[in-house]
Amino acid sequence: MILRGWCHLKEIEEVWEIIRDKVDISLEDFIDEINKVKSRLKVKLSDRAVAIIVARKLGIDVTDIFTPPVIGRVLELGMVKRSETRGPYRLFTLVNEKIRQLCVAFGREHVEWLENKEDKAIKISKYVMAPFGGGKILRVTEKSIMEELPDDALPPIVSLQPALSPTIAGIKDKRGSWIVSGVILMEDISEFFSCPQCRRSLEFIDNDWVCPVHGVVEPETRRVFRYQIADETGIYSAVYYGEPVGEELTNKAIKFKASFKGDELIIFKIYEITPIEA
Ligand SMILES: [Zn+2]
Repeated sequence: MILRGWCHLKEIEEVWEIIRDKVDISLEDFIDEINKVKSRLKVKLSDRAVAIIVARKLGIDVTDIFTPPVIGRVLELGMVKRSETRGPYRLFTLVNEKIRQLCVAFGREHVEWLENKEDKAIKISKYVMAPFGGGKILRVTEKSIMEELPDDALPPIVSLQPALSPTIAGIKDKRGSWIVSGVILMEDISEFFSCPQCRRSLEFIDNDWVCPVHGVVEPETRRVFRYQIADETGIYSAVYYGEPVGEELTNKAIKFKASFKGDELIIFKIYEITPIEA
């Protein structure tokens, strides 16, 4: 018999939603078990707490209840850094329709896995939320699991609200990368020599091209695009080192991912190009 009136169904259903795929009993039986355990308990607990006790009895790893798997796209990926005690780590930002979450991944395996995941939809389970700079940071530890999801698991990154800024001025005082729109008023393309291994710019020393990291290398030619870009809030200098878009951008509106470095806008990726006049 189901004693629905006796317990807080909503609290139990929240737990149930998380565990339902991992157990082979029905919601009704789960509620029955909760009521049985409750009647034997010598202390008073909330229904949510009892539901978690029952879930554990059913063999569920309850970390998934406290920190349910989070799904998002990788908006930005920091450089790999190294800490004395914890080895390699890297910061990254995850966005979905509701949240913009700063994350940090520890360990070589996770750090390398993230390498080509920019803008990709991923799922993180068994993470730890920790206080960080007035907010919270999601820590991907050795026990955590990261998986890539099919691209249609989430809307495209350009329509995930927490990744967007309505204006270019709006990202100036904020940290990190944002997706924003602007109109290119002027485009200037120049070439420079870069390292084929790390893409850093090279110096010409004693008749050799020298990378600050890799020493003497065979130079590669790369193009850098400089723009004057405008929106309703002003006109900004921008630089783009990414893949050439294959068309002239002057007098076109672009949707792009960028962040400010000082007064200069660094463009990381260009998503959409549209003419501004009909
Ligand atoms: Zn190099």
